[in-house]
Amino acid sequence: MQDLNKSARYLNLQEVYPCPICQVGEIATMPLMEAMACQFCHHIFTANLEKQQLQMADRQPPLTWRWDGKSWSQRRLKDVEIGWGYTLGAIAFVILPTTLIGITVYARPPLLSSPLSWFPVFWMGLTFCLHLGIIAQLVIEFLDFPFWAYLNRKLQSIWQRSG
Ligand SMILES: [Zn+2]
Repeated sequence: MQDLNKSARYLNLQEVYPCPICQVGEIATMPLMEAMACQFCHHIFTANLEKQQLQMADRQPPLTWRWDGKSWSQRRLKDVEIGWGYTLGAIAFVILPTTLIGITVYARPPLLSSPLSWFPVFWMGLTFCLHLGIIAQLVIEFLDFPFWAYLNRKLQSIWQRSG
């Protein structure tokens, strides 16, 4: 297997590249086909060698990436670049409601003698988890991200390292 961190190289159909979806597998050209596939998450891609672009073939509208010689960059959904705005929006969606509840709890702390004194903190945790869950769900659905396979692989590597 080739060292993927070697010097910059062009996107071509003879080599293997890291998979932009799962970050775990590698994509290589399928036998007798122009398309490339990941051996781990099984997504199929088509390469545009002229533009040095990769397009997801099994998703509509397709996601595209640009190969910069070392890694995939400029992820786009059709013509829209998915930049930091979306990431910031997602973070705000998780942080803001939790913070609001946190401020309320801090400003008006419940009486410790009250039987429901645990509730505001519980509510804060629940808000955080729910909002985080919604974002995670969106990302997983959007990318068709092989979450359980990814988690499995990560846990395996942690186990192997510790054992
Ligand atoms: Zn993959």
